[in-house]
Amino acid sequence: MNAFKIARVWGIPISVHVTLVIVLPIIALSIARGTGISFLWGLAGAVGFFASVVLHELGHSLVALRKGCRVREIMLLPIGGVAQLDRMPTRPLDEFHVAIAGPVVSLGLYVAGRLLASLAAGIGLHSAARVLAILSSVNLMLALFNLLPSFPMDGGRIFRAWLTPKLGRLLATQIASGVGRFMALVFGIIALFQFNPFLLLIALFIYQAAGAEYRMVRLQEAARTWNPQPWSTAEPAWPGSDEEITVSPPPYARRHTSAHITRPLQAQQEWFDNLFEKWR
Ligand code: ZN
Repeated sequence: MNAFKIARVWGIPISVHVTLVIVLPIIALSIARGTGISFLWGLAGAVGFFASVVLHELGHSLVALRKGCRVREIMLLPIGGVAQLDRMPTRPLDEFHVAIAGPVVSLGLYVAGRLLASLAAGIGLHSAARVLAILSSVNLMLALFNLLPSFPMDGGRIFRAWLTPKLGRLLATQIASGVGRFMALVFGIIALFQFNPFLLLIALFIYQAAGAEYRMVRLQEAARTWNPQPWSTAEPAWPGSDEEITVSPPPYARRHTSAHITRPLQAQQEWFDNLFEKWR
């Protein structure tokens, strides 16, 4: 088992990947060392960071639920969080609302963190104030990083939602996915120069996910626009009679029945091949 469930919110299970358990103390230690606070306060900061990620994902999830989507799970990974939706809303405005909800939550947490940090500093809770200030900055970074047009991250989804009414969903996804993969390459190069393994993992994730989502949309659009009419109406009647209506074809018609099934399948295959040729 690679993940375990820690909570359930609005019926959505929240899971933690096992690798996070290993990474969490490392993050706690680096926060503690970087700011001169104790390990426990560092741990509070690390937990607060992943709590912020959960709230960001819950922001997406709440709007997605309202748009009639089902959220299968929120998974926390060392590189951040992923809300697994059964499907993304296809209406551009719905996709925009789902995508913007996460960064809006993060920006809210940034403001709340700033206020609470100055409140804590005012009453002499200096370690708490430091942790809150860090969490506040982290949430601002979370909002801004997610708003970059690196599809399928939030900014990339907003970019696709903006392109879709102009270009159609398929071409919009192709462009957004291309920009997303380009951004992933840029992140990858930066990660290599900075020796930043987290950024490298994020870059690989974005690169892979951008391609996968484009392929999915290509199939969805092919299935949606596939029109079986041309061959089903042109199909000749059963041999023998024009008037005969067969509910269950008699044995002599079986050969013909199988041809009836395979022909549309061949045509469908050709249709897919043509489409993929067109978009390649
Ligand atoms: Zn997000």
